[in-house]
Amino acid sequence: MSQLDTLWEYQNTELELAKLNKEMKSSPAYQKRSKLYKLLVEQQEIIKKYEADIDEHSKSIAVMESQIEELLHDYELENSELSAMESDEEVTAPELTEARKSIEKLVGRINGLNKELAKVIEWCEGISEQITNTYSKAGRAKKDYDAVRTVCDAEKDSFAPKLEVLQKKLEEQKAKIPPELMKRYETLKKNYATPIAKVVNGQCGGCYMMLSSVQEKRVAAGNAVIQCENCGRLLFM
Ligand SMILES: [Zn+2]
Repeated sequence: MSQLDTLWEYQNTELELAKLNKEMKSSPAYQKRSKLYKLLVEQQEIIKKYEADIDEHSKSIAVMESQIEELLHDYELENSELSAMESDEEVTAPELTEARKSIEKLVGRINGLNKELAKVIEWCEGISEQITNTYSKAGRAKKDYDAVRTVCDAEKDSFAPKLEVLQKKLEEQKAKIPPELMKRYETLKKNYATPIAKVVNGQCGGCYMMLSSVQEKRVAAGNAVIQCENCGRLLFM
């Protein structure tokens, strides 16, 4: 058997294997499993994003809390200063007004920050709820996934003997093909399901282009590996 004959058989085994894999993957259980898997990955990503968001917001909560604490401290100080000023006869009315204004300003800032803080906390609570919901959805999906995986595993087991036979055959055939030829085949495989084509009635069996008579003769002679001038497939007769 020539190298090209072996390669042709190798290709047939590959096609058989691909057909069997396709058959296996087209089962309803397999399809469901793929969908659930995708869903689980998506949910994990959502949870991760939510958690990162909460982390980020927790930092700003801490900053706001310490700002409020500082302002409250200032408020207390200024308040006791005001009390002292109020009982001091030397303090003028405009000075008292200014001190009161400063305290009012502080109160305004504290209220503003408190509002902002409440908003961020509310937002975090909303996100926490969404995380809980996503976790429970993911839990259900995981249960379904585990159930369908059991079905898939059983299906896979029923395919396993056939797959094993084909894989073994493929390895045996591959061992008989020179690495250089195999490399050319693999390169073509990136673009074609059938990198090697039979010449039938002077035509390339891959793209159906007519071969020139010179090319056809060269293929027939079988001294070298000839590629189709149109599609580049390896030709053999
Ligand atoms: Zn061709």
